Amino acid sequence: MDKNIRICIVGGGPAGLSAGMYLEQKGYENYTILERLDRVGGKCWSPHYNGRRYEMGAIMGVPSYYAVHDVEEFCGITHDGPKLNRNYKDGRGNVIEPFEPKKNILKIPRLLKMKKQVKKLGELLETKYKGYDLNGHRGVSEGRYEGFSQASAKREPVSGENPNLKDLSLPFNEFCKLNGVELIQDIWIGPFTSFGYGYFDEIPAAYVLKYLDFQTCMNFVKINLWTWKEGTQYIWEQLNAHLKNPARLNSHIEKVERKDGKVYVTVNGKVEEYDKIIVTAPLYIPNKRADGQVGMVDYFDAREDERALFSKIDYERYDVLAVETKPEDHPEISYYVFDNMVPAKLGHLMVYYRRWKDTKDQVITTYALRKHLKSAEVPYDVCRQMVLDDLKTMHNPASKVVNEWSVYYFPHVFSKDYADGWYEKVEGMQGKYDTYYAGEIMSFGDMDETAEYSRELVERFF
Ligand SMILES: Cc1cc2nc3c(=O)[nH]c(=O)nc-3n(C[C@H](O)[C@H](O)[C@H](O)COP(=O)(O)OP(=O)(O)OC[C@H]3O[C@@H](n4cnc5c(N)ncnc54)[C@H](O)[C@@H]3O)c2cc1C
Repeated sequence: MDKNIRICIVGGGPAGLSAGMYLEQKGYENYTILERLDRVGGKCWSPHYNGRRYEMGAIMGVPSYYAVHDVEEFCGITHDGPKLNRNYKDGRGNVIEPFEPKKNILKIPRLLKMKKQVKKLGELLETKYKGYDLNGHRGVSEGRYEGFSQASAKREPVSGENPNLKDLSLPFNEFCKLNGVELIQDIWIGPFTSFGYGYFDEIPAAYVLKYLDFQTCMNFVKINLWTWKEGTQYIWEQLNAHLKNPARLNSHIEKVERKDGKVYVTVNGKVEEYDKIIVTAPLYIPNKRADGQVGMVDYFDAREDERALFSKIDYERYDVLAVETKPEDHPEISYYVFDNMVPAKLGHLMVYYRRWKDTKDQVITTYALRKHLKSAEVPYDVCRQMVLDDLKTMHNPASKVVNEWSVYYFPHVFSKDYADGWYEKVEGMQGKYDTYYAGEIMSFGDMDETAEYSRELVERFF
């Protein structure tokens, strides 16, 4: 492709900014990043509180965050944040140690069985499901894998046939049952459901295992995790500052028209002409949102195939509160509440995060899910009150809410559409209307999967 083409990138989150970086590294310098907000980072949002930054969005990474590492190297920064640690409470607020056999003598047989199943899953993923962990979903529903190997620094292209991969379209609980590893859900649920990615009876195994591949899940178990002192937003602020063309903030895109091999973008009242456009912002948002975000199909001259496919996308309603507590009510550490990670407890507090070890003069952030495929959605205010009540039950009542948001979170499709080849169809449309689709839906809703997808998109098409 001609290195001088004019490329518009919609969205200044991890996917959009890293697309800019990888394009620039490949010699494409004529790109423009349009961001609707007055800041970059998207769901990496790290506001200030008493001189330090806390996390309203993304918190952590793992050592296999290769694309995030590329960004760190590009900017000369590193993961220098506070060490993560956590304990567990039951739904009544009692501290528990679910994985400590000596303290759970009656549970020893189940714990031993679970350990065996974890080992078994590790082996199955290496053999029966070879190719499961590549970034993105190309070929999976057809029993193929296609992508770039993470095994070496060169990230060489890899591909192959593996009909077993079709199982990944099953809801994760059915996938586990099929493989006789149901108990492993006790481990995978912590960094999945409580992190807002939905319940195992509704989310296809592909999403669960591409994000929580075996190694990544073990890193969570061993708390071998990265954080950033200035917050995850800092990664993307730094990247933005190092790009030749930093994102244009407060860009309101009114219209995108694609005709005669050109892309016309009306932004803040003016028409701009481009050759290609990369969309990292939401493709489809099924309902009206209070934050004014809309899907691409609402401001693009969306074609029939785009509308038909993107209307299958759903997303999680994941709510975050940042609360102050009185010093005597401050939790001594972060807590997981496993009892609340089931659909029957929709809207309840699943995890709360204490970031700094050395002070009680900080906010605690809380996390709850309000949506499950088979239940009625819990309204925002009801969920908010449930979480505040749960904090009392946990013996860590809040004295004030200082920040809150309900996130457009983890766009995904469900099993039937996954199995029907949703990803193969959308991947087949890449470039068709001079348009490329990237961001969370194309891989998974975390910083690294989205940045890695942008890297591969640039590698494949530019
Ligand atoms: C509470 C929470 C906790 C999380 N924890 C982690 C974690 O620990 N680790 C991890 O790796 N990930 C975590 N994530 C997920 C991670 O933040 C996201 O997956 C990642 O930010 C996705 O990057 P993205 O660029 O695809 O999308 P986003 O971050 O959503 O960025 C999209 C950008 O597009 C902009 N935009 C939207 N519409 C338009 C438009 N019409 N025009 C122009 N711009 C537009 C948005 O303002 C935004 O800046 C968490 C997220 C949340 C909310």
